[in-house]
Amino acid sequence: MELYNEIIEKLDGLLGKSEPKRYEYNENKCWEDVGSHQLIMTRESAFELGGDNKPAVNFSCVSSSDYADKDEVLVYGKDLQELNSSASFARLVVLKVAELKGENDTDTEPLFRAIQDIDFVKYHVFPKGYMVRTSSDSFREQVRVSKDAVKSGISFEKIGNTYIRQYKKNPNILAVKVIFVTAEDADYDTMRADAKKTQEITKALSKILEGMSTDCHSCSLKPICDEVEGMKELHFGKEKKEFNQK
Ligand code: SF4
Repeated sequence: MELYNEIIEKLDGLLGKSEPKRYEYNENKCWEDVGSHQLIMTRESAFELGGDNKPAVNFSCVSSSDYADKDEVLVYGKDLQELNSSASFARLVVLKVAELKGENDTDTEPLFRAIQDIDFVKYHVFPKGYMVRTSSDSFREQVRVSKDAVKSGISFEKIGNTYIRQYKKNPNILAVKVIFVTAEDADYDTMRADAKKTQEITKALSKILEGMSTDCHSCSLKPICDEVEGMKELHFGKEKKEFNQK
């Protein structure tokens, strides 16, 4: 499942020149999840990731490559304990799923479940003192962090672990890499463009996996299918499986 590969392959080159801090997933180091939306008032806020019109990028994608070879959190730039004012921000997620074994492997169910979890997890993690706001274009993710959370030791490692724990409820997701970026030298413009492309691929993939007709001439997804290698093969492979089952 390599539809997002063009984006994943260049990802490391966009994250700034500093060495990232790496944290292997540890379920015992998750931050408290309050289970529903919370409001952090301006007076309670320590700082905002993506505040003051700074970049705030978010995207998630799926791959069967080894890019996400284990559950881990990476941090490029300052961590939450090192910030005291608005910072540029990105949170990127790569989910590893099993490889589709060539054109004749049409078991797309695990892929479908992983794709559904991209949005499900995004809107079902509520770290205490970490108020996430997404804009209508949905690839901007701004976060207000409370003074209390900073005092209590909030960190990207703990927030990342909380996201990973939620993804790992889906057995089709084999590994999760969560990348937090606050480095000032990261290429947020390109990440934003990639977020848009990622969203287009995910939308097209969801429609294909839901079972739409395979008439490319009248299909609104043709531009993205023409651009992304493997999309058409996936759709026609799935169609073949459904036809054989009838
Ligand atoms: S393969 Fe053809 S029908 Fe299927 S989504 Fe792409 S353009 Fe549309």
